[in-house]
Amino acid sequence: MDRRQFVIQTAQGAAAAGGVGLGWWTLLVQQAHAAAPMRPPGALARDRFTGQCIKCGQCVKACPYHSIELVKTGEPGVAGLPTIRPRNLPCYMCEQLWCVKACPTGALDPGLTDVTQARMGLAVIDTEHCLSWLGLRCEVCFRACPLKGQAITLTVQQRQISKHAMFVPVVHSGACTGCGICEKQCPTEQAAIRVLDPSLVQGKVGEHYRLGWQHEPHAPPAATLPSGPGAAGAAPPAATPPARSDTLPKALDYLNSARP
Ligand code: SF4
Ligand code: SF4
Ligand code: SF4
Repeated sequence: MDRRQFVIQTAQGAAAAGGVGLGWWTLLVQQAHAAAPMRPPGALARDRFTGQCIKCGQCVKACPYHSIELVKTGEPGVAGLPTIRPRNLPCYMCEQLWCVKACPTGALDPGLTDVTQARMGLAVIDTEHCLSWLGLRCEVCFRACPLKGQAITLTVQQRQISKHAMFVPVVHSGACTGCGICEKQCPTEQAAIRVLDPSLVQGKVGEHYRLGWQHEPHAPPAATLPSGPGAAGAAPPAATPPARSDTLPKALDYLNSARP
């Protein structure tokens, strides 16, 4: 190999390595940022959605609020897939679900016909930076939520610096659609309420835990109650449930004796 060939081949190798390096770097950045970005309403489970969405952008065009955008290369998530960034623009939960209707592949499930049943994510409150939880008056997210009273409620919390109670927002996963309107409206510099993928933030109690107070074994169903004393076919009176104070020491004794 003469000097000229050597220089050309070295330059070609460096260019190829640079190209691979750039691709690898982009991949690393994508992976680092790919923390389950929010998707439009009706999106299938994440892996199925990624396979079924053809990145056509029809949902983007269909949304009258411009709530949906396509992930760009280098941004969190898979490039080309539709996403919603609530702090820019949330989903305004239009009744018509235009985005779902526009999807040609079913990646946005056409079976979703009621926007209140959408589960785009779950709103989570950072109680260390939420103004209400800090003892100030805010409640903006509560007032902005389209499912106020169901997805967000206000609950009384004792204030540390005075005798007055404060009202703090609490999100309920059974009703929150993950629309992100609360995140958009939150007045703190960085939103103190954010929509996240439920799998990242939700725990699971486990089947073996029994919440006894949710099952009242001593209370007969209303339909089985006799209509009056001595009524024909009347069931015998239900046993009087033991007073809570009678059962508590036993439960505590049991827990104590179970210790090694
Ligand atoms: S439900 Fe309506 S507002 Fe929400 S993203 Fe779809 S088209 Fe836009
Ligand atoms: S809008 Fe933000 S600061 Fe205000 S109560 Fe909701 S989470 Fe807290
Ligand atoms: S994301 Fe926020 S505004 Fe939307 S339903 Fe849930 S709590 Fe309400």
